[in-house]
Amino acid sequence: MKGVTVNMWAGGPLAVDLSSELGDLYQRLEKELMLLDPGCNACGACCDFSVFDHVLYASDIEIDFIARHVEAPDFNVSDNICPFLEDNKCIIRDFRTLGCRIFYCNPHYKEVLCELYEKYYQMIKELSRKYNTQWKYLPFLQQIAEFKSKKTGSF
Ligand code: SF4
Ligand code: SF4
Repeated sequence: MKGVTVNMWAGGPLAVDLSSELGDLYQRLEKELMLLDPGCNACGACCDFSVFDHVLYASDIEIDFIARHVEAPDFNVSDNICPFLEDNKCIIRDFRTLGCRIFYCNPHYKEVLCELYEKYYQMIKELSRKYNTQWKYLPFLQQIAEFKSKKTGSF
């Protein structure tokens, strides 16, 4: 994978199960999105959060999922651009968050995508309950920066 370092992570069996279930959930979502087909030319503009004046939120489970697979490049939170955007392309597509997957700039799909987001958000929250993990839902950049600053973390 271009631009990212793959982590050789070795976690406990519970964490592996949680990670695996989240991966399955993302696959289900991708199938639903394929059927919906809201259209995207992969320009990468929405990953420059200032351009769209939006904040990407994610749960710590999703951040953990990314951290188990890749290493985040150095970045400044104040730039307000995703560090995984390279040459206007997402370099961690397989591991990207729910918000990344569901955001489409096509306004005609706004309502249905909001419903889909809520549905999968609840499913991820349920995973958190099932595995008894602390639920945290915060801005994506902030969480990645925190993860990177912890030398014990996977980033
Ligand atoms: S993880 Fe990928 S899709 Fe999500 S904001 Fe970053 S570059 Fe965009
Ligand atoms: S959703 Fe829109 S802004 Fe984002 S990458 Fe696709 S076309 Fe570009």
